[in-house]
Amino acid sequence: LPWRIGLTGGIGSGKSTVVAMLQALGAPVLDADALARACTAPGGAAIEPIRATFGPAFIGPDGALDRDQMRALVFAQPAARQRLEAIVHPLVRAAIEQACAQIRQQGRSDCVVLDLPLLAESPHWREQVDAVWVVDCTPETQTARVLQRNGWPLAQVQAVLAAQASRAERLALADVVLDNDAPTTLAQLQAQVQRAYAEQRHQFGL
Ligand code: ATP
Repeated sequence: LPWRIGLTGGIGSGKSTVVAMLQALGAPVLDADALARACTAPGGAAIEPIRATFGPAFIGPDGALDRDQMRALVFAQPAARQRLEAIVHPLVRAAIEQACAQIRQQGRSDCVVLDLPLLAESPHWREQVDAVWVVDCTPETQTARVLQRNGWPLAQVQAVLAAQASRAERLALADVVLDNDAPTTLAQLQAQVQRAYAEQRHQFGL
C-alpha cells in the first residue's frame, strides 16, 4: 500500500482531463513529468550526473538542464536518450517511492495515481504500478484536439504522434481503457472514470 494506478495516454488524448477528474474523486496524483523537471532544475539531483555524462554544454547558465540542447541530442541519438533516462528514471522512481511512503504514513490515501505520459514508451514503468489505465482515442481525434488547443502546424502534431508509442502499443499494456474518442463528451468521460475508479478500488480490495 498504497496501491498504484499508472495513467497514460498520447498527446491530446485527454490524460490531464482524467487526472483532474481523479483528483476530484480524492485520488492523490503524482506527476512523473513534474518530478523529472524537478530533478533537472538548478540544484536538482540529475544535474551533476548529466554534466559528468554529457558535458557542461548541457547545463545552462542558471544551473538547469538545457532542455533545447538535450532534446536535439536525444532526437538525433537514441543511445543518448537511453543514457539520459538511466540518470533521470531512477531519481523519478525514488521520488515516487518517497511520496508514496509519505502518503501512507499520513494515512491520506490507500490508492495513488501515477501520471506517466511515457509509460508505453518506457515499459519499465509497468513494473512500478499495479494497474495500467490508458486514455484512448484515435490519432485523428488527437490531431484535431492538439491543432485546436496548441495552434501548432499539422506537421508538428504529426511529428510528435510519430515519435510516441502507437495506439496499439499503448492498448496492449492497458488493464483499463477509458474511451475518449470524439464524440465522447466530458460527462461521458467522467462517468467512465468514476466507474473505473470504483471497480479498481474494489479489485484492490479497498
Ligand atoms: P497533452 O499530453 O498534450 O498534455 P492530454 O492527454 O493531457 O494532452 P488534455 O489536455 O486533457 O490531453 O486534452 C486535450 C484537449 O482536448 C484539451 O483542450 C481538452 O480540454 C480537450 N478534451 C479532452 N477530452 C475532451 C472531450 N471528451 N471532449 C471535448 N474536449 C476534450
